[in-house]
Amino acid sequence: MGRCTLLIVLLLLFNHIPALAKDRFDYEKTGKITWEVKTDEKMVAITFDDGPNPVYTPDILDVLAKHKAKATFFVVGTHAKNYPEIIRREVLEGHEIANHTFTHSNIIHDSPKLENEINKASETIEEITGFSPTLFRPVGGYYNDIIINTAAENGHHVVLWSWHQDTKDWKNPGVNNIIKRVISGVKPGNIILFHDSGGNRSQTIEALEKILTELEKQGYECVTVSEMLFRTQTKQNN
Ligand SMILES: [Zn+2]
Repeated sequence: MGRCTLLIVLLLLFNHIPALAKDRFDYEKTGKITWEVKTDEKMVAITFDDGPNPVYTPDILDVLAKHKAKATFFVVGTHAKNYPEIIRREVLEGHEIANHTFTHSNIIHDSPKLENEINKASETIEEITGFSPTLFRPVGGYYNDIIINTAAENGHHVVLWSWHQDTKDWKNPGVNNIIKRVISGVKPGNIILFHDSGGNRSQTIEALEKILTELEKQGYECVTVSEMLFRTQTKQNN
């Protein structure tokens, strides 16, 4: 690698990291994106992306029910359309359904296209459940002004996840690694990222069982993202 190329690579690398950190700080101040919630109350929000999946989601729902834990499912519109009975079960069991685009395509610069993806997904969810979701998670967790404003203009608040609570379960890193990642840094108000689709999710399910047992032992309550936002906002207003 030439000296010049190396310099450019280094510049790009160092430019990228502080830029992201600065963006988060700036965006957090606007209240337009939520990474996690500030609270002393022992609660966390467990979230699942990319479902529903006919093989894995029902097993995940069984584990959640056993532990009386509520979760938020950021569903893909086309999958919801294919498996409406799973969406209905999620709602019946007290979980939150949120928007993760209609086709899971990564649109970051085209507002009308993204608007179409968001609205088609929410219409599909509303047809199935009677409710239109209020939360949106962009594909790949990518965010910029176009994504945030398009979501907001269409009635959706952008929710990502706590940076230390990305389980990377889609890579199948091993059950113990998934457990360690969540438990070692867990704090009140964390938003934890799992996936209930996109490949074999057996590790996710096995890890979830143990994570929920440990969280219960530590006195944590697992609530939906909206519930966590609601509880902290009402506290601030009192
Ligand atoms: Zn996704």
